[in-house]
Amino acid sequence: MLSKLKLCNQICKVQVFLPACLNAGLTSSNDVAPNFDNSQQAFKSKSTFELIRACSILALCSKDILVDNALKLMRAGEIFLGKIIFTRLMEKTFYGQFVAGETGPAVVKAAEKLKIQGLNLMVAPALESDLGEGTASGLLDKNLTEYLQLADLTSKGSFNGPTTPACLQMKMTALVPIDVLIQLTNILNDSTGEKKLQIISLLSKCMEDMVSLTNLKGLPEELQEELQSACQRLKLLGSKGKEAKIRIMVDMEWTYVNPACSALALAMMKIYNRNTPAICSTVQCYLKGALDTLEFERLAASQFGVCYGAKLVRGAYLEKEKQVAPHLVCNSYDDTSKNYERVMMNALKTALQSQPGAHFIFVATHNEAVIKTAINFLRQQFTSKHPNVGFAQIYGMAENISLPLAQANYLVYKSVAFGSLNQVIPYLARRAAENRAIMKGARRERELMMSEIKRRLFYKI
Ligand SMILES: Cc1cc2nc3c(=O)[nH]c(=O)nc-3n(C[C@H](O)[C@H](O)[C@H](O)COP(=O)(O)OP(=O)(O)OC[C@H]3O[C@@H](n4cnc5c(N)ncnc54)[C@H](O)[C@@H]3O)c2cc1C
Repeated sequence: MLSKLKLCNQICKVQVFLPACLNAGLTSSNDVAPNFDNSQQAFKSKSTFELIRACSILALCSKDILVDNALKLMRAGEIFLGKIIFTRLMEKTFYGQFVAGETGPAVVKAAEKLKIQGLNLMVAPALESDLGEGTASGLLDKNLTEYLQLADLTSKGSFNGPTTPACLQMKMTALVPIDVLIQLTNILNDSTGEKKLQIISLLSKCMEDMVSLTNLKGLPEELQEELQSACQRLKLLGSKGKEAKIRIMVDMEWTYVNPACSALALAMMKIYNRNTPAICSTVQCYLKGALDTLEFERLAASQFGVCYGAKLVRGAYLEKEKQVAPHLVCNSYDDTSKNYERVMMNALKTALQSQPGAHFIFVATHNEAVIKTAINFLRQQFTSKHPNVGFAQIYGMAENISLPLAQANYLVYKSVAFGSLNQVIPYLARRAAENRAIMKGARRERELMMSEIKRRLFYKI
C-alpha cells in the first residue's frame, strides 16, 4: 500500500522541472561559484576583537575535558564566580559569540545586520526541556506565549518576500510534556507505516477540530488530556506563523522523542502546508535511519496532499545518543558524513523535481566539503537560487561559508539564538561540542580567521 502511495505521489506532485524553472526566473549555472578561500571578504563585517574571540573559543573547544563537561562547568561557574562576574565573562566570550541578545529589539537588529550581508533570519529561541527537568503545563503555556511573541518579531525580520520568509525554529519539548512525547514515540515505534499515518491524521484532527484522542490506543488517559492541550498550543503557534507569514522549523532532539516530534510536525503540515511549506521538519543524519525518516515524512506529506519542507542536519546530541541509543547512531564521523551526503542528494533531487515553492530543503551544515557537493549538483542542474533549496548555518559559526554562498546568489539563512544567559546554557554547551570537529581538522574556519587577523595586525590593510 505504501509503495502504491509513493508512486501516486510521484505522478501527482512532482512536475517536470525545466519549464517551471524558466517560469520562476531561476538563475543559471553562469552564476559565479562561491569562493571559500577569500578570508578578507568573508570576515569583512567582523571586528578584529570578534575574530580573536572566535579563534580563542575554537581553541577552547579543542579541549575534550572542557567540552565534555561544558554544561556542568557553566553551571558551576555561575555558582562560584557569582551571577554578575559570570554573566560579564560569558557576554564577552561564549554568549557574545553565539547569541545575538535576549529578544525584542535584538531580533530586529540582528535581522537588519543579516540583510546587509545578503543573509536571511532564522530565529532559534532557547526554549527546551529534557527528562527530569519538569514540564508543568504552566511552563509550556509560558513558552507558547514566548513563541507567539517571537513569531511577530520574526516576521519583522522577513525582508525578502514570500518565497524567502524568515524562519522560527521551535522545539516540541517546549510545548509538549516530555513524558507524552516519550509515550507517543513508543506507540509510533510499535506501529506500521499505515498505522503511523492514521495516528498523524488523528493528531491533526485533534489540532484542527479538537477531536478527542480517546482512540489513541496505548496512551494513558491523563496523557491523552495533556496531548490534547499540547495540540491546541501547536495549533495556536501554527496559526500565528501563518498570520505572520513566517516559516516554522520543527527541530529534532533526542531519539526517545523524535518520532513523536516528527508526527506532530506532520500533523501541523497537514493543516498549514496546503499552499507552501510553512511548517518544516528536521532530519538528523548522524542517525542510521535518516533516509527512511526523510522518505516517510515526504510520503506522509504527499498522502495528505500538502507541501513538504525539512532541514538536513548532522545532529547536535551525539554525546547523549551514544549513551542512550548507540545502535541508532552512525559508527564514526566518516559514516555520518556519508549518510549526510546520501540523504542530501536524495532530498535535493526531489526538491528540484517539485513545483517551485511547493517543497523546501535546507542544507543546514558548516561542512565545506558537503556544501561543495551540493553546489556542484545545483550548478549541473543549471540553478543556484532555486526557490526550493537553501543553506543554513549557525550565527557565530562558519562566516567563511555563509557569506561567499550569499555573494554567489544562493539562499542562505543564519540560525540566530536569542535568550537570557540562563536560558541558553544548554545551547552553548552543544555549540562547544560541535565546534570540536573544527579543531580535529574538519573545517578551515580557524585557519582563515588566523590569516585575516595576521593580515590586519601585521600588514594593516
Ligand atoms: C540551521 C540549523 C538548524 C539546526 N537544527 C538542528 C536540530 O533541529 N537538531 C539537531 O540535532 N541539530 C541541529 N542543528 C545543529 C547541527 O546538528 C550541527 O550544527 C551539526 O551537527 C554540526 O555539524 P556540521 O554539519 O556543521 O559538520 P561537521 O562540523 O563537519 O560535523 C560535526 C558533526 O558530525 C557528527 N559527528 C562527529 N563525530 C561523530 C562520530 N564519532 N560519530 C558519528 N557522528 C559524528 C555530529 O553530528 C557532529 O555535530 C542545526 C544546525 C543548523 C545550522
